[in-house]
Amino acid sequence: MNASTLQFELDLRPRPLCSSALELRQAVRRFLEEELKSRSFEPTVDAWLRGFDRGFSRTLAERGWVGMTIPTHYGGHGRSQVERFVVIEELLAAGAPVAAHWIADRQAANSILSFGSEPIKRRVLPRIARGDCVVAIGYSEPDVGSDLASVRTRAERTREGWRLTGTKIWTSHAHHADLLVVLCRTSPRTEDRHAGLSVMVVELPHPKVKARPVLLMTGEHHFNEVVLEGVDVPEEMVLGQVGEGWKVVTSDLALERSGPERFLSTYPVLVEMLRRAAETGDRCAGRAVASLAAQLYALRAMSLAVAQSLDAGDSPIIAAAVVKDIGTRFEQEIAETARHIFACEPSLDASDPLQRHLAVALMHSPAYTVRGGTNEILRGIVAKGLGLR
Ligand SMILES: Cc1cc2nc3c(=O)[nH]c(=O)nc-3n(C[C@H](O)[C@H](O)[C@H](O)COP(=O)(O)OP(=O)(O)OC[C@H]3O[C@@H](n4cnc5c(N)ncnc54)[C@H](O)[C@@H]3O)c2cc1C
Repeated sequence: MNASTLQFELDLRPRPLCSSALELRQAVRRFLEEELKSRSFEPTVDAWLRGFDRGFSRTLAERGWVGMTIPTHYGGHGRSQVERFVVIEELLAAGAPVAAHWIADRQAANSILSFGSEPIKRRVLPRIARGDCVVAIGYSEPDVGSDLASVRTRAERTREGWRLTGTKIWTSHAHHADLLVVLCRTSPRTEDRHAGLSVMVVELPHPKVKARPVLLMTGEHHFNEVVLEGVDVPEEMVLGQVGEGWKVVTSDLALERSGPERFLSTYPVLVEMLRRAAETGDRCAGRAVASLAAQLYALRAMSLAVAQSLDAGDSPIIAAAVVKDIGTRFEQEIAETARHIFACEPSLDASDPLQRHLAVALMHSPAYTVRGGTNEILRGIVAKGLGLR
């Protein structure tokens, strides 16, 4: 690489939205206005993680806003990533409770579509599109997060399929999930660290799957430690080829890391900051909010460009890493800025929405740059793209 002409082809310029996406945005906005009027939900920070409401997910699904990119013959809506982008952006901006279908809609549906057997596609995809399938991802393990190739959960051959044994950690929503997607080792480690891994789907609840709560700082039960005590998995529940699980795990990285949930988790705080700055006329606060708004504008454009690139059939992993690295730091910056410019005591129980949202935003803040791949790992990916590794 010639440092004076840094070659880095990263197209993060969005193209204008088509009319169907614009109409969709208006429809979602009208729906959310009605829901907020009838107080069907209370807007929250980090809604895609903590806003768990199966009923709300089903309501969205009835309108065709869950499983949007699943083909119609599997019960979905055959719509584009950009159309999905528009819908989820509006939902997140409103702080709507979308956690019950988030993982299923964002990534499990895609993995199953790309790597699932026909029986699993027919059984699971329509459920996801109905907003009726909570999926938990069982990749991380005690001492194994970033370095997933080191997972110790193993699957041994049986006559009908596989038997899974091991322990997973940080498993979001496993305590009320319908499916658990498990990364495991199906053959011993060799020089190729990524070979011999497989991904299997376990239906929950299961008598040999035990989920123990790991509470968040706020006291919320979101995470779990999940113990698999010899769980039988039929062959048809393996995603992709046995031994080629790494392909499954890495195939959705662009989807998982580039969406608006990577910069809108603390958006309700920004809305309250804007309100407060307008009410007080404080010019310093106004400048701080304007600076955040400018960053938001750029991030949104980058994230939309990734969605458009996904629709074009590309796999923009590096661009997604850039969005997530910058976006998740932006989420933290919103909370830090609010803390510094307003005389406001963060409190989980406050009636003032700024105090309340700020308390959640700050207590969830360490997670933004860790979940879904830490920022250090993302920078490693970008460095590789720059030819530095
Ligand atoms: C809110 C939340 C929800 C989550 N949900 C799930 C879930 O549902 N399912 C699931 O499987 N996991 C989940 N995770 C786990 C998450 O994916 C891991 O925490 C993450 O991958 C980091 O792994 P780790 O915690 O083991 O940290 P480690 O990998 O031990 O990293 C510790 C520190 O070392 C740094 N580091 C590690 N390796 C390198 C390297 N090669 N180069 C430079 N720095 C490095 C990291 O950046 C980090 O700062 C969740 C995490 C959070 C916070």
